[in-house]
Amino acid sequence: MVLGGNLPNSELPTWVALSPVTRVPVRDDLSALEGYHSPQVDVRVRLNTNEAPVAPPQAFREAYAEAISDIEWHRYPDRAASGLRSAIADLHGVSPEMVFVANGSNEVLQTVLLTFAGPGRTVATFEPTYQLHSHIARITGATVIEGERSTDFSLDVNEVRRVINEFHPHVTFLCSPNNPTGGVDSPELVAEVLALSTGLVVVDEAYGQFAPWSALELINEETPLVVTRTFSKTWSMAAARLGYLIGPRWLVAELDKVVLPYHLDTAKQIAGTLAVQFQGDMEERVRTIVAERERLVNALASLDVDVFESGANFILVRPRSKSGRTVWQGLLDRSVLIRDCSSWPRLADCLRVTIGTPEQDDIFLKALTEVLS
Ligand SMILES: *Cc1c(COP(=O)(O)O)cnc(C)c1O
Repeated sequence: MVLGGNLPNSELPTWVALSPVTRVPVRDDLSALEGYHSPQVDVRVRLNTNEAPVAPPQAFREAYAEAISDIEWHRYPDRAASGLRSAIADLHGVSPEMVFVANGSNEVLQTVLLTFAGPGRTVATFEPTYQLHSHIARITGATVIEGERSTDFSLDVNEVRRVINEFHPHVTFLCSPNNPTGGVDSPELVAEVLALSTGLVVVDEAYGQFAPWSALELINEETPLVVTRTFSKTWSMAAARLGYLIGPRWLVAELDKVVLPYHLDTAKQIAGTLAVQFQGDMEERVRTIVAERERLVNALASLDVDVFESGANFILVRPRSKSGRTVWQGLLDRSVLIRDCSSWPRLADCLRVTIGTPEQDDIFLKALTEVLS
């Protein structure tokens, strides 16, 4: 047989012979997988992706512009991202060896799952929750066990016990505050999960700064617990793609072996290092958004919707007399885009709205009142 020559059909693999357009088959376990979708539509008020409603301070932009003019573009970045790790470590009062940084907390989650999940291993989630936990776990080849939240979307300790005792997951995900439902897991619940679990526990705190407490206080060298955070929400830096986790030193060392070398470019390392110098501004934005959230919750209480308690920068609502899809479309017709969760499993008719500026929120409330009437 001459390689590269014209092979008779009988010598070709069957998928080539059968397919008029030559496509290479993906892994069998990926063929049923659907991609992650979040429509980006051009509208007047965009409250669909939980971004911060305002940009980081002008002083940050100026410091960044100046710093990147000195980049040595012909050199690889600092592979250990030591400056950025130290800056984040200082933020949380931990050692830099307890900090792992990547391109968004999604890449942090992916690295955790490549390291601790993969084929032959199990990952537990409690649904409905952040879709990418199960999605990335499946991409690594792991088996996902979907536990169930209660009808008010809180997490019942009996269900946690059932899932962990029955499946002994290698990785168990909590998400607090939970996206898209908004609830915060109690310290007692997280402690109980840690007591039951024999694997790694990941608490995704993408919205941690909006919540009254953090699982960061439970982290030490003896506990298989990590907490993930992101610059995309509270830090007003979704454009940067920067996230991190805090965990035991031994675990961070394992992640460093798995992630690609030089995965964090120099410009991003600079952006993150400078951003944390504006922690006060970030906390001020968080306070403003929390106050705005409470205003919105109160206003929604007088409308024909169920409102779920939120410790985040978004609120999940469920219209009572109209379908979620109808309400979502009615808002879009008024150039207000929120997240349509109404067709997601377990979230029938639910819609998620991100807290915006007071002006944006007023437009949303006015449009929602019209649509519901
Ligand atoms: C937004 C979000 C993330 C993703 O963060 P990136 O850092 O932008 O990748 C992770 N987890 C949850 C729960 C989120 O809502």
